Amino acid sequence: MAKATTTPMMEQYNQIKAQYPDAFLFFRLGDFYEMFNEDALKASKILEITLTSRNKNAENPIPMCGVPYHSAQTYIQRLIEAGHKVAICEQMEDPKATKGMVKREVVQVITPGTILQDEALESKENHYLASVAFIDDLYYLAYIDVSTGDAMITSTPDRLSLINEIRTLAIKELVYYQQDAEWVKELKEKVTTHYSYFPYNEKEANVEFSWDLKDANQAERHLLDYLFGYLFNVQKKAAQHVKPIERYEISSFLQMNYYAKTQLELTRSLRTQRKKGSLLWLLDKTETAMGGRLLHQWLDKPLLSMQTLEKRHERVETLINMYFERVELTESFVKIYDLERLVSKISLGTANARDMGQLRQSLRQIPLINDILVRINQEQMNGLNDHEPQFLLLDEHTALEQLLEDVLVEDPPISLTEGNIIKSGYNAKLDEYRESLENGQQWLMDLQKTEREKTGLKTLKVGYNKVFGYYIEISRLQAAQLNDDRYHRKQTLSNNERYITDELKAIEEKIMEATEKSTDLEYQIFLSLRQTVNESIKTLQTLARQIAELDVLCNFAKISEEEGYVRPILTTDNQTIELVESRHPVVEHLIGSTNFVANDVKINSDQYLLLLTGPNMSGKSTYMRQVAYAVILNQIGCFVPAKKAIMPIIDKIFTRIGSSDDISSGQSTFMVEMMETQQALSQATSRSLLLFDEIGRGTATFDGMALAEAIIHYIAKKVKATTIFSTHYHELTALENSIDTLKNIHVGATEHEGELVFLHKIFDGPADKSYGIHVAKLAGLPDEIIQHSQAILIELESNAALLRQTEAVQLDLFKVEEEASTMNKETNSVDQEVIARLQKQNLNQTTPMEA
Ligand code: ADP
Repeated sequence: MAKATTTPMMEQYNQIKAQYPDAFLFFRLGDFYEMFNEDALKASKILEITLTSRNKNAENPIPMCGVPYHSAQTYIQRLIEAGHKVAICEQMEDPKATKGMVKREVVQVITPGTILQDEALESKENHYLASVAFIDDLYYLAYIDVSTGDAMITSTPDRLSLINEIRTLAIKELVYYQQDAEWVKELKEKVTTHYSYFPYNEKEANVEFSWDLKDANQAERHLLDYLFGYLFNVQKKAAQHVKPIERYEISSFLQMNYYAKTQLELTRSLRTQRKKGSLLWLLDKTETAMGGRLLHQWLDKPLLSMQTLEKRHERVETLINMYFERVELTESFVKIYDLERLVSKISLGTANARDMGQLRQSLRQIPLINDILVRINQEQMNGLNDHEPQFLLLDEHTALEQLLEDVLVEDPPISLTEGNIIKSGYNAKLDEYRESLENGQQWLMDLQKTEREKTGLKTLKVGYNKVFGYYIEISRLQAAQLNDDRYHRKQTLSNNERYITDELKAIEEKIMEATEKSTDLEYQIFLSLRQTVNESIKTLQTLARQIAELDVLCNFAKISEEEGYVRPILTTDNQTIELVESRHPVVEHLIGSTNFVANDVKINSDQYLLLLTGPNMSGKSTYMRQVAYAVILNQIGCFVPAKKAIMPIIDKIFTRIGSSDDISSGQSTFMVEMMETQQALSQATSRSLLLFDEIGRGTATFDGMALAEAIIHYIAKKVKATTIFSTHYHELTALENSIDTLKNIHVGATEHEGELVFLHKIFDGPADKSYGIHVAKLAGLPDEIIQHSQAILIELESNAALLRQTEAVQLDLFKVEEEASTMNKETNSVDQEVIARLQKQNLNQTTPMEA
């Protein structure tokens, strides 16, 4: 059999493809990027484009598909969104000027964590690429947002907190090299993101990567070299715009594990997994993209420093008091573009003229902002001479702004190769070209005039199109009569003939030359402008950050004012939380403040364990969440939804508020509940806040209740964290007698015109125990039943009391099976069937009616 012959081009393709096995290779062929073989088969499906083949008639045709060079971006984005990588292979020589094979090279690999197209990035979200390593008993996590230049590093001995951090940051791509490590496997099971395996030794040898981290230790160097090595490997150029790397400790912020964050719906709604309905959604009134991203970062990492928080609160208060100045500030912010991402594009050399126009537009706002800040500072300092100005003024970048004013036209186009970018008067040579272009236009008009006279054809005209260049156009009717050998036919249309003359040809050449030279020159001027701006990226990044902060503070002022929040008074007393008329910010916003029932919260070191009872749907979990929200809002520097607030600095929040997301993770709800309880109890301190919503309900009544009671005792004795514990085990309310620090509270309900009304109001003391019977009575059940049930209740209660004295009999889940198997098989077949069917039920998905 004859050996399959490979064309030189396919050989080149195969060679390059072999270096990028995990990416779609976009192989440039003229105006197209082509894909072959496996790539073509897969990509044609994902992109829904036609699959063809290269050598149709051969024995083994090569599958092929392609996308036009001009619209490649959309296709690339779709492949990335589907979790793939794309290697862009360009022609490195002009095919016309080359004999034989054109040299081709991969100039960039686009990956989920490094894609930079505007359309692929959420404007108010960071887009992180991260790498992880386990070095000397510590897990290290380093991450960068290439689109903004933000870079961070942290380490932790605790695997859970590493996983937690990765999930919170919603990392887009995670690079790793410790392939076989147990913890990497666990990570992959627990965190969905794009994983890129990149062997450590493949990071460019002997290349110094330009990252900047003060006092980096050996392990940090190692990981950062690796991360930047990967970045260099895909981008094929150094990322110079990356800011100095920030090192942080996870424990220097308010800690919440992933469950707490999701259950509290900080940045995403539980139901929809979208921003809408979350706390961030309510809070986010930022005007700039970088402000939006900063707010998200703050919400992910609330502070522990009382001093910094006081300062933020102080500024928010000032901005509330100076309403008009604040409104003026926000009006300026609206006109500021995404400076952070603009700066990155400038540094990476992808910024176009429109981007530069946006930078100028943004810089124009800075003097206005400074004027307002000066006014605010003066007002603040009135009478207080030794007072520090509250807001630092911004660097106006005057020279840079002036340069942009001088160079760029007012509304620059996106394209860099078609001219009309540079203002007249900036460059003498360019002005000269433009003048000759204008002359050219005049020559053309003159030519038209003289040719009309010469030929006597009044409708003769000079025109231009991109393909054929300049021409003289005459209607076909008149063309028949034309008898002039200066005219050479160029193009025939249905009604017209187009001609060229030597004179027109000469003018055309001059115009073309001037056009080409001027667009070339404009491009060169633009590049040098971009280069000059690039020298200011550090200060521009600082400016962007300052604007982001101002934006977020104005945002806090706005929301606090509109929603009626109060400045919290910070206390060093760890267990004091005092909220007067506190509200749940999101629920209140959704149902309207007149419909929301405000409640007080009184917690202090004498009584910091609240046992909350009340019927279902009465507002227990809303109450618990609103305490958490007050803590979080306070610790990001915002005011809190209350009339008065005295708040400590809380170090950790743990929540166990039942939700359906446990089902999807494949663990039984009760097991998850217990694991989280374990985490909370082992990690909480007396400065923490624990919110336990009906712990124990996931199992049979008695052992659930027993657990709940033991847990409360443990918290009271050992953990001493501020705790709200909701329960429907009425028996637990008796704990008030044995635990000094525990206080009973309940959500009240009342009867109104024969219907049960939830007051959503919190009262001291335990809830009414015969609440269920009460409802039944309201529903109109016969008196006989009501009275009988009351008698049974009393009996049950005394039995329960008895049980507590002897050893509690526990209902055991696993006993059922044993009992079933020892039953008399013949007589109990019905029972067995019932048991079998019950066991098959998915209780997590059973509605109350079905049950
Ligand atoms: P529980 O945890 O007791 O079952 P929830 O806290 O889930 O009850 O609240 C049930 C419903 O009652 C919620 O949908 C909420 O809209 C409403 N609600 C809760 N608290 C209040 C309140 N303070 N004012 C007005 N409505 C409330």
